[in-house]
Amino acid sequence: MAEHIHKCKSCSIYSLENNCPFCKQSIDRPLPPKFSLEDKYGQYRREVKRKEFVEKGLY
Ligand SMILES: [Zn+2]
Repeated sequence: MAEHIHKCKSCSIYSLENNCPFCKQSIDRPLPPKFSLEDKYGQYRREVKRKEFVEKGLY
């Protein structure tokens, strides 16, 4: 998994390189890292799990 994905505004394509493979322009706007989104879902899952334990009286 790549750490940074860049999007070329001219070509509307995503690239892992710092320069667009088509127009060779530098791509300077990396997307937000994916792990923050995954962490958000992980937090949600943990919250659900915790409520489940509370309901069953196991927590
Ligand atoms: Zn391009």
